[in-house]
Amino acid sequence: MSRRLQALADAAGSELEGAHPTEVLRWAGDTFGSRFAITSSMGDAVLTSLAAEAAPGIEVIFLDTGYHFPQTLETRDRVAAELDVNVVTARPQLTVAQQNVKYGQSLYARDPDLCCAMRKVEPLNRLLRGYEAWGSGIRRDESPSRANTPVVGWDARRHMVKVNPLACWTQADVDAYAAERGVIVNPLVELGFASIGCAPCTRRVSAGEDARAGRWAGQDKTECGLHV
Ligand code: SF4
Repeated sequence: MSRRLQALADAAGSELEGAHPTEVLRWAGDTFGSRFAITSSMGDAVLTSLAAEAAPGIEVIFLDTGYHFPQTLETRDRVAAELDVNVVTARPQLTVAQQNVKYGQSLYARDPDLCCAMRKVEPLNRLLRGYEAWGSGIRRDESPSRANTPVVGWDARRHMVKVNPLACWTQADVDAYAAERGVIVNPLVELGFASIGCAPCTRRVSAGEDARAGRWAGQDKTECGLHV
Protein backbone atom coordinates (compact mmCIF):
# COMPACT_ATOMS: atom_id res chain seq x y z
CA MET A 1 0.00 0.00 0.00
CA SER A 2 2.71 2.47 1.02
CA ARG A 3 4.70 1.75 -2.12
CA ARG A 4 1.65 2.38 -4.30
CA LEU A 5 0.89 5.66 -2.51
CA GLN A 6 4.48 6.80 -2.73
CA ALA A 7 4.59 6.14 -6.48
CA LEU A 8 1.33 8.06 -6.83
CA ALA A 9 2.78 10.97 -4.87
CA ASP A 10 5.99 11.06 -6.89
CA ALA A 11 4.12 11.03 -10.21
CA ALA A 12 1.63 13.68 -9.11
CA GLY A 13 4.44 15.87 -7.76
CA SER A 14 5.96 16.04 -11.26
CA GLU A 15 2.71 16.31 -13.17
CA LEU A 16 1.16 18.98 -10.97
CA GLU A 17 4.24 21.19 -10.50
CA GLY A 18 3.10 24.69 -11.50
CA ALA A 19 -0.59 23.75 -11.56
CA HIS A 20 -3.15 26.07 -10.00
CA PRO A 21 -3.92 25.11 -6.36
CA THR A 22 -7.52 24.31 -7.34
CA GLU A 23 -6.28 21.70 -9.81
CA VAL A 24 -4.00 20.16 -7.16
CA LEU A 25 -6.84 20.02 -4.63
CA ARG A 26 -9.24 18.59 -7.18
CA TRP A 27 -6.74 15.84 -8.00
CA ALA A 28 -6.39 15.01 -4.29
CA GLY A 29 -10.15 15.07 -3.72
CA ASP A 30 -10.85 12.89 -6.76
CA THR A 31 -8.05 10.46 -5.92
CA PHE A 32 -8.58 10.03 -2.18
CA GLY A 33 -12.15 11.18 -1.49
CA SER A 34 -12.89 11.23 2.24
CA ARG A 35 -9.40 9.84 2.93
CA PHE A 36 -7.99 13.29 2.12
CA ALA A 37 -8.09 16.17 4.63
CA ILE A 38 -6.33 19.51 4.90
CA THR A 39 -4.97 21.28 7.94
CA SER A 40 -5.34 24.95 8.72
CA SER A 41 -3.75 27.15 11.38
CA MET A 42 -6.49 29.71 10.70
CA GLY A 43 -4.09 32.49 9.74
CA ASP A 44 -6.36 32.89 6.75
CA ALA A 45 -8.84 30.75 4.86
CA VAL A 46 -7.15 30.85 1.45
CA LEU A 47 -6.33 27.13 1.28
CA THR A 48 -9.63 26.26 2.95
CA SER A 49 -11.64 28.35 0.45
CA LEU A 50 -9.83 26.73 -2.47
CA ALA A 51 -10.44 23.29 -0.96
CA ALA A 52 -14.13 24.02 -0.37
CA GLU A 53 -14.47 24.82 -4.06
CA ALA A 54 -12.44 21.84 -5.31
CA ALA A 55 -13.66 19.24 -2.81
CA PRO A 56 -16.87 20.44 -1.10
CA GLY A 57 -17.38 19.09 2.40
CA ILE A 58 -13.68 18.34 2.88
CA GLU A 59 -12.45 17.87 6.45
CA VAL A 60 -10.27 20.71 7.73
CA ILE A 61 -8.14 19.79 10.74
CA PHE A 62 -7.42 22.53 13.26
CA LEU A 63 -4.94 21.83 16.08
CA ASP A 64 -6.32 23.50 19.18
CA THR A 65 -3.18 23.63 21.31
CA GLY A 66 -4.86 25.57 24.12
CA TYR A 67 -2.48 28.48 23.46
CA HIS A 68 -4.17 30.16 20.51
CA PHE A 69 -5.04 33.84 20.25
CA PRO A 70 -8.79 34.47 20.63
CA GLN A 71 -8.79 35.87 17.09
CA THR A 72 -7.60 32.50 15.76
CA LEU A 73 -10.44 30.64 17.45
CA GLU A 74 -12.90 33.21 16.10
CA THR A 75 -11.47 32.67 12.61
CA ARG A 76 -11.93 28.91 12.99
CA ASP A 77 -15.56 29.42 14.00
CA ARG A 78 -16.21 31.72 11.03
CA VAL A 79 -14.64 29.20 8.65
CA ALA A 80 -16.83 26.42 10.06
CA ALA A 81 -19.97 28.52 9.75
CA GLU A 82 -19.38 30.12 6.35
CA LEU A 83 -17.51 27.61 4.16
CA ASP A 84 -18.56 24.26 2.73
CA VAL A 85 -16.08 22.31 4.86
CA ASN A 86 -16.17 20.16 7.98
CA VAL A 87 -13.82 21.61 10.60
CA VAL A 88 -12.36 18.92 12.86
CA THR A 89 -10.64 20.19 16.00
CA ALA A 90 -7.78 18.06 17.29
CA ARG A 91 -6.77 18.46 20.93
CA PRO A 92 -3.71 17.33 22.90
CA GLN A 93 -4.04 14.57 25.48
CA LEU A 94 -3.20 17.00 28.30
CA THR A 95 -4.88 20.34 28.90
CA VAL A 96 -2.54 23.29 29.45
CA ALA A 97 -3.26 23.07 33.19
CA GLN A 98 -2.43 19.33 33.27
CA GLN A 99 0.77 19.94 31.30
CA ASN A 100 1.78 22.68 33.74
CA VAL A 101 1.36 20.28 36.67
CA LYS A 102 3.32 17.50 34.98
CA TYR A 103 6.08 19.50 33.25
CA GLY A 104 6.04 22.87 35.01
CA GLN A 105 4.83 26.28 33.86
CA SER A 106 5.79 27.72 30.46
CA LEU A 107 7.20 24.54 28.93
CA TYR A 108 7.15 26.38 25.58
CA ALA A 109 9.93 28.67 26.82
CA ARG A 110 12.13 25.85 28.21
CA ASP A 111 11.54 23.01 25.76
CA PRO A 112 9.42 24.13 22.80
CA ASP A 113 10.16 20.93 20.87
CA LEU A 114 8.57 18.84 23.62
CA CYS A 115 5.66 21.27 23.91
CA CYS A 116 5.03 21.14 20.13
CA ALA A 117 5.41 17.35 20.14
CA MET A 118 2.65 16.98 22.72
CA ARG A 119 0.34 19.81 21.64
CA LYS A 120 0.67 19.64 17.85
CA VAL A 121 2.48 16.63 16.43
CA GLU A 122 0.89 13.86 18.52
CA PRO A 123 -2.72 15.10 18.07
CA LEU A 124 -2.20 15.50 14.31
CA ASN A 125 -0.61 12.07 13.95
CA ARG A 126 -3.45 10.50 15.92
CA LEU A 127 -6.08 12.13 13.73
CA LEU A 128 -4.33 11.45 10.43
CA ARG A 129 -4.42 7.70 10.99
CA GLY A 130 -7.80 7.66 9.28
CA TYR A 131 -6.53 9.23 6.03
CA GLU A 132 -4.24 8.40 3.11
CA ALA A 133 -3.38 11.97 2.15
CA TRP A 134 -3.23 15.31 3.92
CA GLY A 135 -2.77 18.86 2.75
CA SER A 136 -1.31 22.02 4.20
CA GLY A 137 -0.86 25.64 3.15
CA ILE A 138 2.94 25.78 3.43
CA ARG A 139 4.78 27.73 0.71
CA ARG A 140 8.32 27.84 -0.64
CA ASP A 141 8.62 31.58 -0.12
CA GLU A 142 7.86 31.46 3.63
CA SER A 143 11.35 30.53 4.82
CA PRO A 144 14.57 28.82 3.64
CA SER A 145 13.48 25.61 5.37
CA ARG A 146 10.42 25.45 3.10
CA ALA A 147 12.16 26.41 -0.17
CA ASN A 148 12.04 22.87 -1.60
CA THR A 149 8.45 22.05 -0.67
CA PRO A 150 6.90 19.81 -3.38
CA VAL A 151 3.35 20.43 -4.60
CA VAL A 152 2.69 16.74 -3.92
CA GLY A 153 5.20 14.59 -2.06
CA TRP A 154 5.63 11.62 0.22
CA ASP A 155 5.36 12.01 3.98
CA ALA A 156 7.76 9.22 4.90
CA ARG A 157 7.21 9.59 8.63
CA ARG A 158 3.45 9.05 8.41
CA HIS A 159 3.43 6.90 5.24
CA MET A 160 0.97 9.27 3.63
CA VAL A 161 0.72 11.48 0.55
CA LYS A 162 1.39 15.12 1.46
CA VAL A 163 -0.28 17.78 -0.68
CA ASN A 164 0.95 21.38 -0.61
CA PRO A 165 -1.26 23.17 -3.15
CA LEU A 166 0.13 26.64 -2.35
CA ALA A 167 3.80 25.60 -2.54
CA CYS A 168 4.46 27.69 -5.67
CA TRP A 169 2.43 30.71 -4.59
CA THR A 170 4.01 33.82 -3.10
CA GLN A 171 2.66 36.00 -0.34
CA ALA A 172 1.53 38.42 -3.08
CA ASP A 173 -0.46 35.62 -4.76
CA VAL A 174 -2.13 34.76 -1.46
CA ASP A 175 -2.94 38.41 -0.70
CA ALA A 176 -4.34 38.96 -4.20
CA TYR A 177 -6.55 35.85 -4.00
CA ALA A 178 -7.80 36.80 -0.52
CA ALA A 179 -8.65 40.35 -1.61
CA GLU A 180 -10.29 39.30 -4.88
CA ARG A 181 -12.46 36.60 -3.27
CA GLY A 182 -13.13 38.30 0.07
CA VAL A 183 -11.55 35.36 1.88
CA ILE A 184 -11.76 35.18 5.69
CA VAL A 185 -8.48 36.43 7.17
CA ASN A 186 -7.41 36.30 10.83
CA PRO A 187 -7.66 39.90 12.17
CA LEU A 188 -4.11 39.56 13.55
CA VAL A 189 -2.75 39.80 9.99
CA GLU A 190 -3.83 43.47 9.90
CA LEU A 191 -1.84 43.97 13.09
CA GLY A 192 1.43 42.74 11.55
CA PHE A 193 1.37 39.03 12.33
CA ALA A 194 2.50 37.37 9.08
CA SER A 195 2.47 33.77 10.34
CA ILE A 196 0.19 32.94 13.23
CA GLY A 197 0.73 30.17 15.74
CA CYS A 198 0.40 29.86 19.51
CA ALA A 199 0.32 33.20 21.33
CA PRO A 200 3.42 32.62 23.52
CA CYS A 201 5.54 31.72 20.47
CA THR A 202 4.36 34.29 17.92
CA ARG A 203 5.28 37.95 17.46
CA ARG A 204 4.71 40.58 14.78
CA VAL A 205 7.26 40.73 11.94
CA SER A 206 9.02 43.84 10.64
CA ALA A 207 9.23 44.90 6.98
CA GLY A 208 11.73 42.71 5.13
CA GLU A 209 11.61 39.81 7.59
CA ASP A 210 10.56 36.29 6.51
CA ALA A 211 6.90 35.59 7.22
CA ARG A 212 7.95 32.99 9.77
CA ALA A 213 10.52 35.17 11.54
CA GLY A 214 7.89 35.88 14.17
CA ARG A 215 7.62 32.24 15.22
CA TRP A 216 9.79 31.14 18.19
CA ALA A 217 11.72 34.41 17.83
CA GLY A 218 15.04 34.35 19.68
CA GLN A 219 15.21 30.53 19.63
CA ASP A 220 16.86 28.11 17.19
CA LYS A 221 13.50 26.52 16.45
CA THR A 222 11.90 27.31 13.06
CA GLU A 223 9.36 24.51 12.61
CA CYS A 224 6.86 22.84 14.92
CA GLY A 225 7.62 19.37 13.56
CA LEU A 226 4.43 18.87 11.55
CA HIS A 227 6.04 19.24 8.14
CA VAL A 228 9.38 17.43 8.43
S1 SF4 B 1 4.02 26.76 19.31
FE1 SF4 B 1 4.75 27.18 21.42
S2 SF4 B 1 2.94 26.99 22.77
FE2 SF4 B 1 2.41 26.09 20.77
S3 SF4 B 1 2.77 23.93 21.00
FE3 SF4 B 1 4.67 24.79 20.15
S4 SF4 B 1 5.99 25.39 21.88
FE4 SF4 B 1 3.89 24.96 22.66
